[in-house]
Amino acid sequence: MICEMCGKDVTFCKKVTIEGVHLEVCSECAKFGKEQQKPKEPADAAPKPVIVQRLEVREKRSKPRDVLEKVEMDDVVDDYPARIRNARSKAGMSQKDLAMKINEKLTVLSKVEVGQMRPDDRMVAKLEKELGIKLREKVVETQVAKGMGTSALTLADLIKMQKD
Ligand SMILES: [Zn+2]
Repeated sequence: MICEMCGKDVTFCKKVTIEGVHLEVCSECAKFGKEQQKPKEPADAAPKPVIVQRLEVREKRSKPRDVLEKVEMDDVVDDYPARIRNARSKAGMSQKDLAMKINEKLTVLSKVEVGQMRPDDRMVAKLEKELGIKLREKVVETQVAKGMGTSALTLADLIKMQKD
């Protein structure tokens, strides 16, 4: 074996750390370094293949970017005109009655009831309360976070990258 320090050909090399560098050196040069500690793992715990380790590191790194952002919001249901009309007639109210109860103009309510106008949040809240119905639903939009394109790497991708 060749000593990595002095280049001497010796039969036995010691593994040492000199200034933080791992070297296999002859017993003479070994005096300059610290002997490396034996690995703590039992011998049968074979180290993971490098590629697997790299994938794991990559996965950890990409986690924060990887997450799909879920944006939750209230949205007025599409069939709000029918829901309002049905609830109102069940309650035995005319458009005028309801308009007065929720303190909106009759013209506004009639537009809303035929779907010509989307009620604003304030009006939706009043209609829901007055008629005892739900006009909103939770809509969860899934947005892909930035950088997503690079995080879904397969093993094949990584091998390809390493060849580059
Ligand atoms: Zn040496």
